[in-house]
Amino acid sequence: MPYYDTSALMEITHRPDLVFEQGHGSWLSDSQGKRYLDFVQGWAVNCLGHSPAVLADALAAQARKLINPSPAFYNAPAIELAALLAENSAFDRVFFASSGAEANEGAIKLARKWGQVHKRGAFEIITFENGFHGRTLATMSASGKPGWDTLFAPQVPGFPKASLNDLDSVAALIGPDTVAVMLEPIQGEAGVVPASVEFLQDLRRLTRERGLLLIVDEVQTGMGRTGKLFAHEHAAIAPDIMTLGKGIGGGVPLSALLAREDVCCFQPGDQGGTYNGNPLMAAAGLAVLRALLAPGFLESVAAKGAYLEQKLDEISARHGLGGERGSGLLRALVLKDENGPAIVEAARDHEPNGLLLNAPRPNLLRFMPALNVEWDEIDRMAEILNRCLARRS
Ligand SMILES: *Cc1c(COP(=O)(O)O)cnc(C)c1O
Repeated sequence: MPYYDTSALMEITHRPDLVFEQGHGSWLSDSQGKRYLDFVQGWAVNCLGHSPAVLADALAAQARKLINPSPAFYNAPAIELAALLAENSAFDRVFFASSGAEANEGAIKLARKWGQVHKRGAFEIITFENGFHGRTLATMSASGKPGWDTLFAPQVPGFPKASLNDLDSVAALIGPDTVAVMLEPIQGEAGVVPASVEFLQDLRRLTRERGLLLIVDEVQTGMGRTGKLFAHEHAAIAPDIMTLGKGIGGGVPLSALLAREDVCCFQPGDQGGTYNGNPLMAAAGLAVLRALLAPGFLESVAAKGAYLEQKLDEISARHGLGGERGSGLLRALVLKDENGPAIVEAARDHEPNGLLLNAPRPNLLRFMPALNVEWDEIDRMAEILNRCLARRS
């Protein structure tokens, strides 16, 4: 990597010696001109691929018009985006933020506030082992990622952990201080582990019976990723609170906290943030949401998800792997060993074109292509992956 000196950047992870300079659709190119087929897309962020024209145009037009009057004033793109989200979801009101963690912090605060107003100060939010909700102190505490209980200790209290798909484990944790249950419909960082439809429905019933809020963290699963606008729709449940991030901005920092009317109990001054609901990001969100709501778009995500599923099944059978799982265009291939990181590296180094994949756990690969990925790009991904796997055995 001759052209860049990276020593002024704080080291936060091991990054390969590559600098990406351009991205279009499913393809990225680095400073040497090598091209990469991207099945990570910034961790499911670029839902319309890299630098889509609709997003670039919306950002450019809004940037020339109004970037940020501050959250103390209304602006048209935020009003329109909130209305469009409310119209297409089970929720009535929206608070915009800039990251998934920030939206989840907002959900935690809203639930605690609701507990103060309606449940004599109940504040505990039951979350799940191996869950992931972000990297702020509270969302790290809500997460069930192994090792995070001691990293940056002490944790924020009030997040007892249940086991996913085990209703008894949730019921056993409910006490006088419990105010909510919070989960990802599919645990993404844990390795694409779905909550079953039955579990989600049982959880909705249980939380309703016990007077608790149900919070779904759809930062990874929302915005069309699973072939429906929101993953909880597959279980036909209506949660009380939902958070969105990643795909909602199509690549730019935008997230959202949505709630039913009767849960919205923030008083003036309780919640805020300098960048929240700024028109530049809201304009991006509008462009993305309009694209997802275009006739046939979500159906095409479901169809391409089924095609990716079939391809991954073929790969698993051919190489004797442990099968695949997931929903829509959020899928994982289970390996027979802990070689995930090595395969990710081999796929990236593949010549002439690299393939970008991600191994959230060492024994599996995760696939999160653009929602408008082309059919033949799925074929191309399978070809490169097949070659990398064949070389290893
Ligand atoms: C990525 C993710 C987050 C955190 O989002 P950031 O934008 O990185 O703060 C929270 N919850 C889930 C389910 C995620 O996948």
